[in-house]
Amino acid sequence: MPLEILTFVGGPVETNAYLVADTEKNEALVIDAPHETTAAIVAEAAARGWTIGRIVITHTHWDHVADARALREATGAPLAAHPLAVDNLANPTSFFGMLPVEVPPVETDETLADGAAVPLGGHVFTVMHLPGHDPSHIALVDENREIFLGGDVLFPGGHGRTDLPGADQAVMNASLRRLVAVLPPAARVLPGHGAPTTIGAEAPWIGMLREP
Ligand SMILES: [Zn+2]
Repeated sequence: MPLEILTFVGGPVETNAYLVADTEKNEALVIDAPHETTAAIVAEAAARGWTIGRIVITHTHWDHVADARALREATGAPLAAHPLAVDNLANPTSFFGMLPVEVPPVETDETLADGAAVPLGGHVFTVMHLPGHDPSHIALVDENREIFLGGDVLFPGGHGRTDLPGADQAVMNASLRRLVAVLPPAARVLPGHGAPTTIGAEAPWIGMLREP
């Protein structure tokens, strides 16, 4: 059964949202909710006859969640995030302080811990908890380990920032090593910013990271 993945870029730091669909069952999920992406995502899903059944938030940094409430209201889909994300999603201003865009509070409908299953039509994604950039950070891997919807963990040639509150370089290194151990080199990485890459393309520098 084919999976189709569309990318929507939004907000001042060009954050990627992904609309992922099982095109046989016409069921879809959305990864992350950057500023002012809701209208385009909802319109594209409607045009293709896809029903958005879930919104998965990779982590609670403002650029990934600014439209979370708008997208949840527009789709009626449950919002899913790691247990450590719930308080930040419900109270974004106190967590973030001054923000470049408005980030309305949003309720979490479903919590996803490491190993949780996220069904999508005839497919099942598995949740990986990958802290280091943010304590609440999760990513999704499909059942064939071909697609890694990774948020701000891994980018072409680098990883998510570790100089932010809650970030930790040693924890990030451990998360990256785990990725290389678990995913095959051909696995496609769809990151929270910028272009896709593969695990195999990034494995050499990850292999040189210091052990804690
Ligand atoms: Zn981030």
